[in-house]
Amino acid sequence: MENDIVVEVKDLKKTYGDTIAVDGISFNIKKGEIFGLLGPNGAGKTTTLECIEGLRKPDGGSFSLMGLSPDHGHINMQNMIGVQLQVSGLPGTMRADEAMNFFCAYHGVAPRNDILERLGLVEKINTQYQFLSTGQQRRLALALALAHEPPVLILDEPTAGLDVGSRVELHNIMEELKGAGTTILLATHDMAEAEKMSNRVAILLNGRIVATGTPKEITATGAGLTRITVQVKGSSLSNMTGKFPKVIKSTNRDGYVVYFSSDAGTTVSAIIKYISEKNDELIDLRVERPSLEERFLEITSNGAN
Ligand code: ATP
Repeated sequence: MENDIVVEVKDLKKTYGDTIAVDGISFNIKKGEIFGLLGPNGAGKTTTLECIEGLRKPDGGSFSLMGLSPDHGHINMQNMIGVQLQVSGLPGTMRADEAMNFFCAYHGVAPRNDILERLGLVEKINTQYQFLSTGQQRRLALALALAHEPPVLILDEPTAGLDVGSRVELHNIMEELKGAGTTILLATHDMAEAEKMSNRVAILLNGRIVATGTPKEITATGAGLTRITVQVKGSSLSNMTGKFPKVIKSTNRDGYVVYFSSDAGTTVSAIIKYISEKNDELIDLRVERPSLEERFLEITSNGAN
């Protein structure tokens, strides 16, 4: 529904001298969606985010947040967006609580140390930024972005450099925010993160969107094959490495047979039927669609979908 659209970008353009950084891109994000902005280095992600954040003036096109364009007043837009930057730019000697007070004062809201507590920084409230770990610095940056409870959150590489536990923790917080109706624009190089977290993604290349849709839609359109990994108790599959329908190639690995199929349903049905006819026993069967990472590499190396 039109009314659900919180972020709308139309034909956005930005050049730096002779470099066309963003070449007419359009997308929209609905309320409570996580929208992944993906692309190789130099594709135009940061420029796009900076235009939306109001840090750069686009050369063409338009964007609006909840129907308001930047012309409605800078402060309004700033209060509607929370930005967790990759590098926060905070002075090393600034304490976590001081940073929070500073951001809250900027947005005209009462200090929100409860957000620091919620993001697990309660014991670090009096710690200087320079003495926080990478994970704690990222969480502080997110806490500052959330200080004024913005309806739109922009996250630029939020989990870069985080350990597995901190990454999962941050993903859980993102899910929580999304559940509460926050609309999230996520720029990331981490394809597994984009696939897991995003409702929809756009892949940028040379300033243009070359693919957009749900991660499932994007992986379904590629030439990539589905991987079917099978283990049986007996030896029924020992001479069946390439003989099932729609199998393009197959291989034996650590007691498993791995089939690469162009039509997983047809191949899996045939494998199961064959194993049963041979009175063998299925121990393990896994079906893995091509990942977003594989599809991303396919798209970005071909230059288009
Ligand atoms: P990365 O993944 O490496 O952060 P990105 O997708 O965010 O890349 P941008 O930083 O938006 O890409 O850069 C897009 C293009 O614009 C690149 O060719 C870059 O060299 C150029 N560019 C970015 N900022 C400037 C600037 N301030 N002056 C001149 N050219 C710039």
